[in-house]
Amino acid sequence: MPKVLNWQLGRTMEYPYEAAYPKQQFAFVFNINRCIACQSCTMACKSTWTFSKGQEHMWWANVETKPYGGYPQSWDMKILDLLEKANPDGQRWASGSGPYGEFKGQTIFEATRKTLTPDSARVLGYLPDDDEWNSPNIYEDNPVGERGKPMQWDKTGVELPEHKTWFFYLARICNHCSYPACLAACPRKAIYKRPEDGIVLIDQSECRGYRKCVEACPYKKSIYRGNTRTSEKCIACYPRVEGKDPESEGQPMETRCMAACIGQIRMQGLVKLSQDGTWAEDRQNPLYYMIHVAKVALPLYPQLGTSPNGYYIPPRWVPRPYLRQMFGPGVDAALERYSNPDRELLAVLQLFRRSNRIIFRYEIEEGPQVYEASLRGKTVKLYNDTVIAFGQDGKELFRTTVEEPLHVRGAQHANSI
Ligand code: SF4
Ligand code: SF4
Repeated sequence: MPKVLNWQLGRTMEYPYEAAYPKQQFAFVFNINRCIACQSCTMACKSTWTFSKGQEHMWWANVETKPYGGYPQSWDMKILDLLEKANPDGQRWASGSGPYGEFKGQTIFEATRKTLTPDSARVLGYLPDDDEWNSPNIYEDNPVGERGKPMQWDKTGVELPEHKTWFFYLARICNHCSYPACLAACPRKAIYKRPEDGIVLIDQSECRGYRKCVEACPYKKSIYRGNTRTSEKCIACYPRVEGKDPESEGQPMETRCMAACIGQIRMQGLVKLSQDGTWAEDRQNPLYYMIHVAKVALPLYPQLGTSPNGYYIPPRWVPRPYLRQMFGPGVDAALERYSNPDRELLAVLQLFRRSNRIIFRYEIEEGPQVYEASLRGKTVKLYNDTVIAFGQDGKELFRTTVEEPLHVRGAQHANSI
């Protein structure tokens, strides 16, 4: 198998095809700390792309409650179990040259050589049963408490850094991976990654519904449609990304799920790649800043090896071992930074959902100090800086301040909106 560089793992890895990278890559950051599971994103996607016959159980975008929820059920525990069986006690991280160290275990591409499925699949995976797709919101809002003591939730109150009784919402779409497992597994070569933006698509005229992509995608974001006998997946709202949406005026726009986000947890970008697939330095791009400079946003299950382009700011209250399993060893540093943000991070966090256009660059204008206090033994100072966002054409999209503006409604409008 060819070797490719997976920078998230801090090493090269085996992949069925030679490396080929797009000029720009569709990527996103979700701040889990802010998700309220309103499912507006889920419904925005469904009402745009998957409302037809045969798509009743098809959710390209979904929000599941962790640790018990999952669509399909237990998708992450199942693939982690398969990897553990293929490489017992070997799925470990060590220090190394990558941003999160070096992954010493096996990816889903490497493990398949030891655990061959009956038809010698190129990717370690499994095909969920119909039952597993049927109840996308089962276990919604179910918390976890002390191990072995059902319904015995902790009664001592809640204080950071970790809660003893906890759950959180994990919003998910296709990660438009740099090394897509769906693409690697397709015997018809019906799946391709667009060279202009890295969006991964299934050519419906080539797909014959073998479901190899459904089996291989570790995130289970390729989904079979019974009445057309083809597989379908998130298309990253590519007409919007291309600036073809009537509202976009020719400029790249974020997807429907991003635009609908009530909790303002989502930011999407188009980031520049170097020739070796790493991110080209672009210091003032907000995604580059959050992922490569501040390192507050981390890939979802990077150990699977697909190099997902979805990144998450982990939830602060969740036990660290669980988070380290889900987001890798960068969790502790990310949460330290997120809990004690400096001026720049605080300003960049204000950029979420102020516009539906994709932000390509930001600038910060310093403002006055407006607050000082002590929090968990540290002095916290707040500055009312202004952060300015620019689009692909270099024009200003919007500007916003760290302190939220206060609007006092006039007495004549006291009871109106
Ligand atoms: S998340 Fe799954 S469906 Fe999406 S590109 Fe990655 S492997 Fe393919
Ligand atoms: S719209 Fe935003 S806040 Fe609501 S469930 Fe989706 S990701 Fe969470």
